Amino acid sequence: MPVYVFRCLDCRRIVQYTYSFSEYETATPLCKNCGSANLQRRIGRVGLAKSEDSRMDSLMDESALAGLDEEDPRALGRFMRQMSQEMGEDLGEEFGEVVDRLEKGQSPEQIEEAMPELADEGGGMGGDFDDF
Ligand SMILES: [Zn+2]
Repeated sequence: MPVYVFRCLDCRRIVQYTYSFSEYETATPLCKNCGSANLQRRIGRVGLAKSEDSRMDSLMDESALAGLDEEDPRALGRFMRQMSQEMGEDLGEEFGEVVDRLEKGQSPEQIEEAMPELADEGGGMGGDFDDF
């Protein structure tokens, strides 16, 4: 689920809430520190996710996608593993599990069924948000 980050305009604390999109429509976030409803939405995390996405896109465009058979889960799994190694980042347990499943020959559809939490995760990887 997406993480929404707010700054309290009364006590300047950063608070974050996790809402589904439909919850967010009707939600009234309150400051966890002083209880104020005077919160301003911040988009820090969204911006971060976007820049990582576009980095991923450019990696895919440039090289590796050429010659990749997207119909072959094993090839896709190898590709994803290679890409994460090139990025030098641990992309998390879920990513690892997806790669494992691909390399066992499962199709992306089967994986989505087996891991339904993947579908509603808006690219967030948990993480923490320290108070400033
Ligand atoms: Zn506050």
